[in-house]
Amino acid sequence: MQAEIIAVGTEILLGQITNTNSTHIAQGLAELGIDSYYQTVVGDNPARLARVIEIAAQRNDLVILSGGLGPTKDDLTKQTLAKYLNVPLVEDAAAMTVINNYFKTTGKSMTANNRIQALYPNGATPLTNHNGMAVGAFYQSPDSADFLLLPGPPREMTKMFDSEAKPKLQAVYGKQAQIYSRVLRFFGIGESKLVTELQTLINDQQAVTIAPYAKTNEVTLRLSAQADSKQAAQVALDVVDEQIMTKVGTYFYGYGDDNSLAKVVVESLIARNLSITAAESLTAGEFQSTIGSVPGVSAIFPGGFVTYANAAKHQLVNVPQTTIDQAGVVSEATAIAMADGARAQLQTAIALSFTGVAGPDDLEGQPAGTVWIGLAYRKQPTIGRLYHFAGDRQKVRERSVMAGLDLLRR
Ligand code: ATP
Ligand code: MG
Repeated sequence: MQAEIIAVGTEILLGQITNTNSTHIAQGLAELGIDSYYQTVVGDNPARLARVIEIAAQRNDLVILSGGLGPTKDDLTKQTLAKYLNVPLVEDAAAMTVINNYFKTTGKSMTANNRIQALYPNGATPLTNHNGMAVGAFYQSPDSADFLLLPGPPREMTKMFDSEAKPKLQAVYGKQAQIYSRVLRFFGIGESKLVTELQTLINDQQAVTIAPYAKTNEVTLRLSAQADSKQAAQVALDVVDEQIMTKVGTYFYGYGDDNSLAKVVVESLIARNLSITAAESLTAGEFQSTIGSVPGVSAIFPGGFVTYANAAKHQLVNVPQTTIDQAGVVSEATAIAMADGARAQLQTAIALSFTGVAGPDDLEGQPAGTVWIGLAYRKQPTIGRLYHFAGDRQKVRERSVMAGLDLLRR
């Protein structure tokens, strides 16, 4: 929502009067939360006035004109606007009554041009002038900017703007205040822990609401701010965003409704040109399938291995039979050997390996949910991480994939 004020009057251009009208209107717009990026002053010249009306209408939602509503020859604002809008000027009966009464009670003789003060562009809402005779107008246009016509004399203008126009602007544009949202995504922290960490922040919030959602294997926070402009909302959201980050920033991985840990990780690998492969036992290719869902992954993912049986671990990624015999298939040593073997086979920068017990039964005396993930990265020592995941077979496999992705962003 954007408005421009046009002050009409040669005496303003000549420096004979100070443009206090624009100042007063500008303050009112600020109070209403209506943005204003331009103010214009133009003389009592219909051609130049028509030109600035046209320019202002193109770059704003609302154009406010002050001055030139009077009965004299140099007062041409509403005539020029009516021409621009291609509508006739019509008479406001209430304003005409005021004018007639004025001349009746004062005994002065009314001239024809006094009737001009009761005219307004057809289709507009006339605005009462409590301190004078020239009627104002608020014109809402479906295909151009809206227009507000105000008289020049400050006593008339301020009264009309404050008591007639402002409530209308509030009613018409006040509802412009929209809800702007931002979604923050977290991995590695449960919903209840996240909410506990942020409890005071959530309770103290006024300008921004913080709504947590637990999703499969992750938690999101939706921050919402109601504001008149996107910029105002962003400022409010930034403040809360920063406060959240100082508390739980280590678990944050990305923004957006349709984001995912896989997307963030893969895009980061692509950006850093780090190729990746994997050797998967209990996940049986689910990690590779997950990164495969991200567009552009082919730039960094040449392929990989599903090494379910011990023999396949040996045949495909050269895990020594002795390692499996001595350490067990669900072990750090096997996880490391799988990652090293996979990386050597495809000459990638990174290799992940997954070996564990998906369940429901134990394996090698280890309970379901026991998972080792290996990470080989270039010449650095290959590491193995031990996890104990809760949940059924499918959950254990899903959580293994997520943990693997999580390892890659550290
Ligand atoms: P009227 O003709 O009845 O006096 P009007 O609506 O035609 O009113 P103008 O003729 O443009 O308005 O201005 C009338 C007077 O109002 C000016 O001489 C000046 O004193 C004052 N005025 C007009 N515009 C402004 C302004 N932007 N800021 C301060 N004063 C203004
Ligand atoms: Mg005048």
